[in-house]
Amino acid sequence: MTDISAQHIASPEAKPAMIDPFGRMVSYLRVSVTDRCDFRCTYCMAEDMTFLPKKDLLTLEELDRLCSAFIAKGVRKLRLTGGEPLVRRNIMHLVRSLSRHLENGALEELTLTTNGSQLSRFAHELADAGVKRINVSLDTLDEAKFAEITRWGRLSQVMAGLEAAEKAGLKIKINAVALKDFNEHEIETLMTWAHGRGYDLTLIETMPLGEISEDRTDQYLPLSLVRQRLEEKYSLEPIPYKTGGPARYVEVSETGGRIGFITPMTHNFCESCNRVRITCTGTLFMCLGQEDAADLRAPLRASEGDELLSQAIDEAITRKPKGHDFVIGRNSAPSVSRHMSTTGG
Ligand code: SAM
Ligand code: SF4
Repeated sequence: MTDISAQHIASPEAKPAMIDPFGRMVSYLRVSVTDRCDFRCTYCMAEDMTFLPKKDLLTLEELDRLCSAFIAKGVRKLRLTGGEPLVRRNIMHLVRSLSRHLENGALEELTLTTNGSQLSRFAHELADAGVKRINVSLDTLDEAKFAEITRWGRLSQVMAGLEAAEKAGLKIKINAVALKDFNEHEIETLMTWAHGRGYDLTLIETMPLGEISEDRTDQYLPLSLVRQRLEEKYSLEPIPYKTGGPARYVEVSETGGRIGFITPMTHNFCESCNRVRITCTGTLFMCLGQEDAADLRAPLRASEGDELLSQAIDEAITRKPKGHDFVIGRNSAPSVSRHMSTTGG
């Protein structure tokens, strides 16, 4: 593989900012580096998923070039996601290469969202490359339920991954999707466990993305209800803490830990959206909850220089919509046909 680290260095100075028609500055990029995964979480994927042919994927060098173009335009936070980012072959090559933007100050944070299955293998390398914190998705601490929700996952593997991440000095945030009749009575246990280990916990409402085997109405649990139940036992103090994402945080006085609530369904957070997403084929989504997209692979491949790419990005930002309009109803089609694993969570 060629060395990509010497190319496309974004200068920290003189960045033309990406400002959308609603005055929101785009400073956060999420990159889905693969649509594949070693789990099949029931709310995320169908069991028999058809994945993209490998030839459609951007190479790691192309992903690096794309990310660097966004960094040159003012992106300060970059999150690698998927699918499962750590199952992409040679993913550490991309992470190490992108870390040059941390070293020169152009990028404030390089992080990733992972299911934790491969962390035992990669935690040290990630920390070495300048990754400081990671999000690990974990919806239950019960081994049998974990196997049920992920279909293919083993809880012990994720627990070993978390230990490796701690040893490597990575800060950990647990992401849990709140699911009716599944973990709704386990949220308190998850919280005390996470806070006891010094992890933040973020709760997420299920979003209607992609066809899955189940009815989403059976899975949907509004976080307003979860919060109300927690408030019966704990004092939740709203705090201004921000990580760049859409979560609103509270501090739990009794545990001293933080809980973030990501509430796309019950509380629209679009007015402060600073994010865009790219898929592993170079498609740019200006909103997780809308179909409109821009192809960046063609301008990326059309020339060695970044001029066409830069123009295509600028044009796409002018089309960033005001917000999503997710609806979950009995028998309703998904609001957006692509799965979360395509766009990247
Ligand atoms: N595989 C990695 C993981 O699970 O962390 C990264 C990709 S995953 C798509 C990112 C996040 O999206 C996970 O926290 C997952 O729980 C969440 N997610 C997946 N499908 C979702 C849906 N339909 N609604 C809400 N969150 C979802
Ligand atoms: Fe894989 Fe993450 Fe989707 Fe689960 S949520 S199937 S781990 S991409």
